[in-house]
Amino acid sequence: MDLGIKGRTAIICASSQGLGKACAMTLAQDGVNVVINGRNQDTLDATANEIRDATGVEVTAVACDVTTEEGRAKLLAACPDPDILINNAGGPPTGDFRDWDRDTWIKALDSNMLTQIELIKAVVDGMIERKFGRIINITSGAVKAPIPVLGLSNGARSGLTGFCAGIARATVKHNVTINGLLPGPFETNRIAEVIAGEARAKGISEEQSRIGRMAANPSGRFGYPEEFGTACGWLCSTHSGFVTGQNILLDGGNYPGTM
Ligand code: NAP
Repeated sequence: MDLGIKGRTAIICASSQGLGKACAMTLAQDGVNVVINGRNQDTLDATANEIRDATGVEVTAVACDVTTEEGRAKLLAACPDPDILINNAGGPPTGDFRDWDRDTWIKALDSNMLTQIELIKAVVDGMIERKFGRIINITSGAVKAPIPVLGLSNGARSGLTGFCAGIARATVKHNVTINGLLPGPFETNRIAEVIAGEARAKGISEEQSRIGRMAANPSGRFGYPEEFGTACGWLCSTHSGFVTGQNILLDGGNYPGTM
C-alpha cells in the first residue's frame, strides 16, 4: 500500500536500533525524509548509512540524549516542523518499588512521559496549522497489563497515555492524530536485557529464560521489529486520519482480554 506520505519529514526519537530503527526504515521506504537519533554516534551513523543506502531519502542523524532539554533542542533544531513525530526512549530499569526514591521516579518520568509531552508541545501547533500531523508514542504492553517488576514503566507510560488521550480528541479535526503503539516482546536489545535480568534473578540460563518466554506467548515467538515498523507506517499514513487516541497492542496475543 502506498502510505501517501512521500516527501514528508519525520523525527523518530531513539531510533539507531530496535523498534525506533524499524519505524524509521519503514517511513524511509515510503519516501519520508527522516531525522534519526541515539546517543552512541557510531551506531547512529551506521544506521543512517543503512537507511540512506536502502531508500535514498534524506537521513539526518542527531546524536543526543532525547530525555534532556539540550537533546530535544538539538533534535528540533535539525527539524523544527516535522510532519511526523515518533516518540521513543529507552525503558526504565526493573526492580522493587520499595527501592525507588524520588530521583529514580523523576528519571523514569523524564524518560517515558515528560520528554514525549515536551516534544508534542513543540510540534503540534505547527502540524495543526499545516493540517497534517501524525504523532505516535512507543510505549509498552505494560500500559494495558502492568508488569510487576516494571513499576516505573507502568506508572510513567500510563501517565503519558492518559495525557495523550486528553489531547488526541482536540487535534484530530485538523488531521493531526496522536496514538500509542504498545510493544509486547520484540527481538531487540531491550528484550535481551530483560532476559538477562530474569536469568540472573531466577538462577537460570538466558536460553532457558528466552525459551520460557517464547513458550508463554500464544504466538510461540517474539515479534520482529519489521512487524512493528509496518504498523507504525500505516498509523503515519494518509489513510489513518480517523484513528486517534488509540493504543494498539502488538504482542502476539499475549493480552488475554476480549478487547
Ligand atoms: P533497543 O533495541 O534497546 O533500542 C533502543 C534505542 O533507543 C537505541 O537506538 C538507543 O541508542 C536509543 N536510546 C535509548 N535511550 C536513549 C536516549 N535517552 N536518547 C536517545 N536515544 C536513546 O530498545 P527497543 O526494544 O527498540 O525499545 C524501544 C522502547 O520500547 C523502549 O522504551 C522499551 O522499553 C520499549 N519496549 C520494548 C519491548 C521489547 O520487547 N523490545 C517491549 C516493551 C516495551 P543509544 O543507546 O545509542 O542511545
